Amino acid sequence: MNPKSSLLDFNTFGIDVSCRSIIELTNLDVLEDYLANSPSRFLILGGGSNILFKSDYDGDILLNKTCGIEISNENEDSVEIKVASGENWHDFVKWTVDRDYAGIENLALIPGSVGAAPIQNIGAYGVEIKDVLQTVEYFDLNEKCLKILRNEDCGFGYRNSVFKNELKGQVFIVSISIKLSKNHSPKLEYWALKHFLEEHSISNPSIKDVFNAVVAIRQSKLPDPAKLGNSGSFFKNPLLTGEEFDVVQEKFPAIRFFETDDHQFKIAAGWLIEQCGWKGKVVGKTGSHKDQALVLVNYGGATGEEVWNLAQAIIASVQEQFGIRLEPEVNIL
Ligand SMILES: Cc1cc2nc3c(=O)[nH]c(=O)nc-3n(C[C@H](O)[C@H](O)[C@H](O)COP(=O)(O)OP(=O)(O)OC[C@H]3O[C@@H](n4cnc5c(N)ncnc54)[C@H](O)[C@@H]3O)c2cc1C
Repeated sequence: MNPKSSLLDFNTFGIDVSCRSIIELTNLDVLEDYLANSPSRFLILGGGSNILFKSDYDGDILLNKTCGIEISNENEDSVEIKVASGENWHDFVKWTVDRDYAGIENLALIPGSVGAAPIQNIGAYGVEIKDVLQTVEYFDLNEKCLKILRNEDCGFGYRNSVFKNELKGQVFIVSISIKLSKNHSPKLEYWALKHFLEEHSISNPSIKDVFNAVVAIRQSKLPDPAKLGNSGSFFKNPLLTGEEFDVVQEKFPAIRFFETDDHQFKIAAGWLIEQCGWKGKVVGKTGSHKDQALVLVNYGGATGEEVWNLAQAIIASVQEQFGIRLEPEVNIL
């Protein structure tokens, strides 16, 4: 019997749990062999940057190591790129920026793999992957065959997709295809980004300028998981209908929110957490980050259970004070 494998280096929270064994998926054949020969409980893992292990994982971890980037179509205005799911997301963004392809520069420095990006429809600085995604190619783990989903069939929403719902645990995302523009029109609606560029006297930003700005802002605001274990935003920003929002805003006029295109109200979860007194609070070996209340951190040696207990305490106090239920953005296992 195999000795247990440690997952410490494979989750950005830095939780010291183990699994039965870690198998590197370098290509689809490895997965097909694995499924044919030793099916047991298993979990596909990319960069481990959106997961909290509450306890040891009683099964195998299939670590996605597939790679490959190819231009599948190109004309004067745009380029279509097919990327293997195991590629590092940020490195891929840089690859596109180096070639002057516009569309994902605002998504720089998001940790993790390309394949996980459509799962929660990653987003930052006014851009989501759904804005450029064409198709997702996946291996159906039940039917053991490749399938392709078009963007409109991926059920994309705010930090959501069909892969977090009907297809959860049913697929291995093999590759994604995205379409980027050769004619740059930067997306600068996001205040922090606009402000940064103004402050640095960049009036007509190139793709690289936007990329560099996003990297600099993120480095100044978010704790680096290599130094302080975390999974980015632990909770989603809650979405309220107009009626629900009116009730809350009447009670809390200072509430921080953003109106979405479909007239819902996205409430800043970090603000709610801060109002409940959690920002910067240390609880044992874990806590809410001093600059980013929404980011729960591992100060060293925290267990997943400790982090989860803190998350539940935060959920309870936000519910009690505001009547709003926070939902984790992070996958809890
Ligand atoms: C510091 C920090 C900042 C962050 N900032 C942002 C941000 O700005 N915006 C944002 O949206 N997210 C952000 N995140 C969250 C995270 O980076 C993204 O969700 C990322 O896409 C997760 O990728 P991963 O490869 O690490 O996924 P993992 O954590 O490895 O996996 C996440 C889930 O996806 C499944 N999965 C992974 N790969 C596959 C595959 N190929 N096929 C099928 N299932 C798969 C796993 O089983 C798991 O359930 C941040 C995280 C950190 C630590």
